[in-house]
Amino acid sequence: MRTHPRTLRRPDDLIAAGLVPRARRAEIDAVAARYALALTADVAELIDPADPHDAIARQFVPDPAELERAPEEMADPIGDAAHSPVAGIVHRYPDRVLLKPVRVCAVYCRFCFRREAVGPGRALAGAELAAALDYIRANPQVWEVILSGGDPLVLSPRRLAHIVGELAAIDHVKVIRVHSRVPVVAPRRITPALVRALKAPGTASYVVLHANHARELSPKARAACARLIDAGIPMLSQSVLLRGVNDDAATLGELMRALVECRIKPYYLHHGDLAPGTAHWRTGIAEGQALMRALRGRLSGLCQPTYVLDIPGGHGKSPIGPSYLARVGGGEQAPRYQVEDFNGGRHAYPPVAPTGARGRP
Ligand code: SF4
Repeated sequence: MRTHPRTLRRPDDLIAAGLVPRARRAEIDAVAARYALALTADVAELIDPADPHDAIARQFVPDPAELERAPEEMADPIGDAAHSPVAGIVHRYPDRVLLKPVRVCAVYCRFCFRREAVGPGRALAGAELAAALDYIRANPQVWEVILSGGDPLVLSPRRLAHIVGELAAIDHVKVIRVHSRVPVVAPRRITPALVRALKAPGTASYVVLHANHARELSPKARAACARLIDAGIPMLSQSVLLRGVNDDAATLGELMRALVECRIKPYYLHHGDLAPGTAHWRTGIAEGQALMRALRGRLSGLCQPTYVLDIPGGHGKSPIGPSYLARVGGGEQAPRYQVEDFNGGRHAYPPVAPTGARGRP
C-alpha cells in the first residue's frame, strides 16, 4: 500500500501538526500502543485545532477513554469470526459475502468496530485470496460480494482490478459493493486508474462511502466522489451515530443533505457497536430513534438512511428505527391501525380486509 507521505502515524506527528498539546504526549502514546493510529493530511486539514470539540478531530485523534473497556464490549462485536469459513470471507447472509482483501486503512477511526482486527499489517496472501475466491465460486447463491476490510481502496489499481476481474468472471456474482472511507480521507487516491479498476463488464459496481459529518465532504472529497459517479458507479453512504460528532438532528440532517447533494444516497445509520473502548461514543437507542423521527420530519425522503443495529454475536443487521404504525384493534380479518404523520399527528387507517379474504363468509 502507498499512502500519502504526510499521513500522521505517530503521536509526535500529531503534536508537530498542532493537533495534540505536548502535555498529552503520555496518554496519546498509551492509546497508540494499543490501537492503530493514522490520520491523513487531507483529514488534518479539516480539523480546527482551536476547537476542543472539533467533530473531525474527535473521530481520529486518540482519547484515553479508549483504554476503558466496558463489561459488555467485545473484541469481535458483530461476530465476523463465527461466519468466516475461510480467511478473508464472512458469509453471514445467504446471498452475499464480505471479502476482506486487506486489514489496512488510510485512517484509523477511533470508534472502529473492527479495531482489534485492523492496523498496519498484511493483505490476504495470494493463496488465501485464491481460496477466498474459490469459496465464492463454489457457492452459487452468492449474488453480491462486498469488499470490506480494512479499506479496500488502499489497494493499488492493479490489485483491485485483479480482484474485481476475478469476481466478475464468476457467473453468479452480479454485484460488487466496495465499502470505503478513502474518497473523503484520501481523495487523491481516486484516480482514473482506480475508477477503471472498479468496473468490469457484466457486473454492477457500487461504492458505499463511510462519512459521519458534513465537513468530511470537502471540495476535494466531493470531486473524488464525482469521479466515481460520473464513471457510472452509484454511491451510497453509511454513517455511524457518534456522540459529540453527529448526535443532534441539525448536524445529522446537514450530513444527509450534503451526501444527497453529492448524488450519494444515504443507506445506513449504524448504532454504535460494542467495540472495546468505545462507550464514550455510543448514544442510547432511544436517542437514535428520536433523531430518526426528527430527520423524517424535516428532510426529503432521499435523505433518510435506515437506522440499523448489528446484533452482537453475528446475528446480522436489523432496522431499529421508530415505527409509525400501531395496531389499535379489529379482528384478524380486518385489523385497525393508527398511522403517525411526520409532525407526530396520529390518524386512523380504516379497517380493510386483505384482498384474499374479501367476500368470504
Ligand atoms: S476506515 Fe472502516 S475499517 Fe478502517 S478504521 Fe475506519 S471504520 Fe475501521
